[in-house]
Amino acid sequence: MQFFGTTMFAILLLTMGTFLAGNSKEVVTFIEKTSSMSASVFFTQSTTATQLRTTFKAVPETKKKLRILLVPGHEPNFGGAEYLDIKERDLNADLALILARYLVEDGHYEVAMTRGKDGWNPDFQNYFTAKDEEIKAFVRSQKMEMVRLIEEGKVFKMSKQAPHNAAQSDVALRLFGINKWANDHQIDMVIHIHFNDSFPRKPTLPGEHNGFTIYTPEYQYSNSQATAEIAKNIFKRLARMFPVSSLPKEDQGVVEDQDLIAVGNSNSVDAASMVIEYGYIYEPQLRTPDVRRLALKELAFQTYLGLADFFGEASLVAGSHGSTLLLLWQMLKYSRFKRHLLIKVFIPHQAIHATPARSRGFLVRARVRHSMHFSINSESKTSGVLSEKRHAQNFANFFNQT
Ligand SMILES: [Zn+2]
Repeated sequence: MQFFGTTMFAILLLTMGTFLAGNSKEVVTFIEKTSSMSASVFFTQSTTATQLRTTFKAVPETKKKLRILLVPGHEPNFGGAEYLDIKERDLNADLALILARYLVEDGHYEVAMTRGKDGWNPDFQNYFTAKDEEIKAFVRSQKMEMVRLIEEGKVFKMSKQAPHNAAQSDVALRLFGINKWANDHQIDMVIHIHFNDSFPRKPTLPGEHNGFTIYTPEYQYSNSQATAEIAKNIFKRLARMFPVSSLPKEDQGVVEDQDLIAVGNSNSVDAASMVIEYGYIYEPQLRTPDVRRLALKELAFQTYLGLADFFGEASLVAGSHGSTLLLLWQMLKYSRFKRHLLIKVFIPHQAIHATPARSRGFLVRARVRHSMHFSINSESKTSGVLSEKRHAQNFANFFNQT
């Protein structure tokens, strides 16, 4: 995973220019502390889609960029799903770094990450230590207010939500700390990056479910409207390329949640804030480093495009193919007959076994090569014969062959 480590980070360092403060090697940090703000007040919007779009549009004049905090899920050294030698916490950090790069290249965003693969961003580490008491007081007051409003019947307590693992108390405190940091630093948007797991599952075997889902703040929270709109746009992009979670409730694609700290449990985060579960840890596209690299890049790219859609940005880097997986699109560009043939030979599950192993190996290598050299400005027009749904399905199948 060298590619995502030092090399990718070096690219980030080069492109991030002046707002990259400090000299931490694996994390990106940018923002000087601004005024301390109190957290969201119930029944008011702490952020709106309109406000965010206005800020975005004005960036060329104001130079005040959108502030995005990327939170790779779990701690640097523990927590998260594991399958064979694949650790969710590492995938989260890898994906965050790629997404950060797309966002920085765009020019409208300033990006901070809470941690890299090897440790916390020192700014966060220091914040957790220095602000320990303040964070605890913050959690207490937010929770008390929530309980009071529920008791008074002003806020409705959601039941029957999708199941989550409760974070252990020190981890939970850091998650609230991240929310408070985001409030203190007037972050516009927080994206928590995760991969999912199925229970029960034998450690060495894949589980039952697959696909991605996005958790957003429950509608009574102050950041819910803006987050829902952003999530809808990201969902649309991801759903073109990846299957939606097969787990009941998650299969809605965008799921409101009242309990997750990351989306603002007890109304604790002002910024639009979502958790993206990008897939299940044992899915085949994550298994081998080469294909995993492609998958993570594509997931990050589609997330970036979803944001661009939300902001109505004429897609500068997307090209009409809208994917980093050029080869697949090149294949779809062929004449109807060839396309039909290629899809038949390479994509359907039943047909792949008839393909000589050498061709399969070539395909994988070709995809890797294309990914390494993909040109973000490349414009390849597709004739769009496949419906989006078919395409998403074919893509999923395509990965399932490898
Ligand atoms: Zn996770």
